[in-house]
Amino acid sequence: MEKDCTFCKIVNGETDTQFLYQDDTLVVFRDINPHAPVHLLVVPRKHIRSINDLEKEDSTIISHLITVAKEMARQEAVDKSGYKLLFNVERGGGQLIFHLHLHLIGGW
Ligand code: 5GP
Ligand code: ZN
Repeated sequence: MEKDCTFCKIVNGETDTQFLYQDDTLVVFRDINPHAPVHLLVVPRKHIRSINDLEKEDSTIISHLITVAKEMARQEAVDKSGYKLLFNVERGGGQLIFHLHLHLIGGW
């Protein structure tokens, strides 16, 4: 848990953010400022700054993020129409929250 990290606060239940899914490794919630009809964030409970900071032992977290994103796409009924999975990496990549997260964007 990082002090002053918005997503650490969310994954630790310190906000009123509703989780669409949660387990021991990650949580899923809707983006507060959606860029598409469906815009979810898949967020590991572990504070990792960005893809640049991944350690070897984090590979199971990343594969789980993607597997859950696939399930959420089905649950949100965008699996057939299609969707994007996106990691923004650091400021030049559009990252604003420096706690790793996977965007699931679709529903156009
Ligand atoms: P980034 O640009 O870092 O990849 O994406 C951060 C995303 O988090 C943005 O799309 C932004 O709208 C979303 N976001 C920022 N703060 C909050 C929040 O407090 N709650 C929710 N649900 N989403 C947030
Ligand atoms: Zn954090």
